[in-house]
Amino acid sequence: MSKDFDLICIGGGSGGIATARRAAAHGARCAVVERERLGGTCVNVGCVPKKVMWNAAHTGEALAHAADYGFDVDARGLDWAALVERREAYIRRLNDIYARNLEKSEVALLRGNARFVDEHTLDVDGERVTAERFVIAVGGRPTVPDIPGAELGIDSDGFFALTHCPGEVAVVGAGYIAVELAGVLRALGANVRLVVRREAPLRHFDPIIQEAYLEAAAAEGIEVVNHFTPVRLARKGQTLTMEAEDGQRVDGLEQVVWAIGRESSTTGLDLRKAGVAARNNGTLAVDRYQATNVPHIFALGDVIGGAFQLTPVAIAAGRRLADRLFGGHADRYLPYENIPTVVFTHPPIGTVGLTEAQARERHGDEAVRVYTTRFIPMEYALAAQEAKRRSAMKLVCVGDEERVVGVHLFGNGADEMLQGFAVAVRMGATKADFDDTVAIHPTSAEEVVTMT
Ligand SMILES: Cc1cc2nc3c(=O)[nH]c(=O)nc-3n(C[C@H](O)[C@H](O)[C@H](O)COP(=O)(O)OP(=O)(O)OC[C@H]3O[C@@H](n4cnc5c(N)ncnc54)[C@H](O)[C@@H]3O)c2cc1C
Repeated sequence: MSKDFDLICIGGGSGGIATARRAAAHGARCAVVERERLGGTCVNVGCVPKKVMWNAAHTGEALAHAADYGFDVDARGLDWAALVERREAYIRRLNDIYARNLEKSEVALLRGNARFVDEHTLDVDGERVTAERFVIAVGGRPTVPDIPGAELGIDSDGFFALTHCPGEVAVVGAGYIAVELAGVLRALGANVRLVVRREAPLRHFDPIIQEAYLEAAAAEGIEVVNHFTPVRLARKGQTLTMEAEDGQRVDGLEQVVWAIGRESSTTGLDLRKAGVAARNNGTLAVDRYQATNVPHIFALGDVIGGAFQLTPVAIAAGRRLADRLFGGHADRYLPYENIPTVVFTHPPIGTVGLTEAQARERHGDEAVRVYTTRFIPMEYALAAQEAKRRSAMKLVCVGDEERVVGVHLFGNGADEMLQGFAVAVRMGATKADFDDTVAIHPTSAEEVVTMT
């Protein structure tokens, strides 16, 4: 019997929408199922609102430096509620744009919660729909620790729901979301403690990034509390106290933000009815073509877990899958390597490729050569010494030809700088290629092509 659709994408976030629209462009009959707001995590409670908050913080920093250049400015604080209202209005416009784009692409939007009935049938809020193929792109949600009092804190979704800037905050976590939220809160006026379970935040980054971040965080006034495993959160009068397993305490808190990781949204999908196997943590194992153990059911985006839970990764995987299934590109797939990533700290981090340790492990100590630089960007030329932020950069090169396999940037502009260098790394550029590229002066980016 013919099916209702050639392809149904479960999840109307970054991955699901991109896959369905590309498949429809190739002539496939497609649908997206979404139970909440279109655009998924990125648009509603991820990249977009986060970047708006970072931009607000960045604007505040520019105001603080305006006097260095002779401006007579008097910033009388931030209207957090107005900022949030404008941010949410922007997001609503994006939700509408996503809906219109689906319509333009002739992708059906099925509103409701999807769960499998069998390997070709979904139940969407009581309605049955069938398809030849499925893409599971249901993303994830923030993890909250299973400890007494955890509900007194908020997660990253709760951060975006804040109606004012809390005075005293602990952000618990060591990954990019934790340091980003800690940075924004600090820059917008909160006293922030970054509470980390092990010895330091951003452990998976190259040490040059970790060190530069810690130095900058200290200068910004973020207190990093290491070796703290929370076992209880309790309200004491007006404030919250967090206790660690070794008896340490962090107290006097108005707010606690859990940023300890994310878990996949596969529970409730009734995967077993379709025969799809999930790992113990709910993520889905896929082959290089994004196929699950059931050949006509694919998974992509955050739901597959792994190190690259990023919007452009979900989009790239989805578009390539659609090109392969419906566009005649028989061997198109996304290799999960050399994926550039930015962390919106203050200043930001940009990194692509291997860390020095990864390069040494993969290529051997002898083959690896690194170049580093640390400097103060020229925009602080007129600033007081204590207001100057240092930048730090590292190139990781391998082999006699010194192929650049890692670029690690920390400093103002690193976020916008990285994309072009990621192209160079992907193309196999060598240190000589970097050196032979004429510098752009005066910029921070020129340091990347003038390292000795
Ligand atoms: C605070 C934060 C900041 C981030 N910042 C960045 C950033 O700066 N850059 C970046 O690249 N990435 C960032 N990310 C990560 C990015 O948001 C995700 O990688 C991306 O959204 C993953 O896309 P996805 O399609 O896999 O899932 P999602 O975007 O999460 O979409 C999944 C969708 O599926 C829906 N859904 C789930 N189950 C069902 C069901 N059973 N039926 C129907 N619908 C269902 C959900 O409602 C959701 O809309 C950030 C994430 C967070 C939390």
